[in-house]
Amino acid sequence: MNLPVADKRSGDLQTRIAAKRDDLISLTQELIRIPTLNPPGLHYRDICEMLQSRLSNSGFETQLVRAQGTPGDSDKYPRWNIVARRDGRNSGDCVHFNSHTDVVEVGLGWTVDPFGGELIDGKIFGRGACDMKGGLAASIIAAEAFIEEFPDFSGAIEISGTADEESGGYGGVAYLAEQGFFSPDRVQHVIIPEPLNKDRICLGHRGGWWAEIETFGEIAHGSMPFLGDCAVRHMGAVLEEMENTLYPAMASRHTEMPVVPEGARQSTMNINSIHGGQAEPDPDYTGLPSHCVPDRCRITIDRRYLVEENHEQVLGEITDLLEGIKSRRTNFEYELRELNHVAPSMTAKNAPIVETLSHSIQDILGKTPDLVASPGTYDQKHIDRIGKLKNCVAYGPGILELAHKPDEYVGVEDMLDSANVMANTLQRLLAASSQ
Ligand SMILES: [Zn+2]
Repeated sequence: MNLPVADKRSGDLQTRIAAKRDDLISLTQELIRIPTLNPPGLHYRDICEMLQSRLSNSGFETQLVRAQGTPGDSDKYPRWNIVARRDGRNSGDCVHFNSHTDVVEVGLGWTVDPFGGELIDGKIFGRGACDMKGGLAASIIAAEAFIEEFPDFSGAIEISGTADEESGGYGGVAYLAEQGFFSPDRVQHVIIPEPLNKDRICLGHRGGWWAEIETFGEIAHGSMPFLGDCAVRHMGAVLEEMENTLYPAMASRHTEMPVVPEGARQSTMNINSIHGGQAEPDPDYTGLPSHCVPDRCRITIDRRYLVEENHEQVLGEITDLLEGIKSRRTNFEYELRELNHVAPSMTAKNAPIVETLSHSIQDILGKTPDLVASPGTYDQKHIDRIGKLKNCVAYGPGILELAHKPDEYVGVEDMLDSANVMANTLQRLLAASSQ
């Protein structure tokens, strides 16, 4: 990989980006003002059309792609995506910026209009400001500034705005990857401008496995529990075995992944919910419960796993635990139902996009970036597993901890800094052979 040092023209690029400050602010505000709430998946077509008109004006070829038949897609709530591409004068690598356009529910506690895009003291407020419309706007400004400064660049730049990341990405990046948009012969470098702080590069994320475990018993009168069989006590045995063996085993398993926060640098498992016995009554019910031995108990588990583990091991570990109880405990009957599964993904520390972005962060911000990994997943999983593209990272402005919170915002200076980093990376990857 040829990594030319940025020449004197990187200063010109920074001047151009500084001059686009107002444009960056209004573009971010315009994106925030389209309330692309997911669920149910509102205004996807509107945001794609807005991006289409913006990027066509900057010389991009654009395609709107509906992820027909994916979860949530319907004529009422169609899953629209946009892919925009601008080819340079000569052949070369393609750098792709992928941003999701959907935002999560607003929630309580806001002191500003969540879809107002207000600019207050250098911060733009709104749902999706940091996660991740600010990152999308920064990547557009970076690409436009680069193209103006280096009109004869080699290779290609792509910008996509995709649906449904917040609900798994099946109507967005997964669908586009299945259609070949992320195949390594079309795209060579991917940057996902998720809000991970402007001086950090995120190499990937842990995997996730979600399942339900149900134990069974036999209903009887509560005054004579020996005539029945208590499913909640059977589940108690499951939880006890998890405490005694599974949690210590997971805690002892460490990873090469630089996950932040550090507590997530091991396998983890959350028990999302537990329910046993008769259904919870309506809140307006004023009667007393009846007396019954519960004949079923169910938990939902959320197991996050490391690149050093795989789906078969994670599933096998729980199955072995349940089978072990079954062999020791009288009348222990259970069902294990897998709900969903996503593989972990981690790009190599010496991958070209990591090394190039690191040089750019050093150049623009004067510091060596932290290489991190995410405890939760994002769309990189689909680019890796379906697209088979390994040269992908998340890098973008915004403070991760603000994502999904009330009064979410993105700082204008942060966006400008990361736009400079992105443009510098484009220069390193695409401008070399045209000079
Ligand atoms: Zn996001």
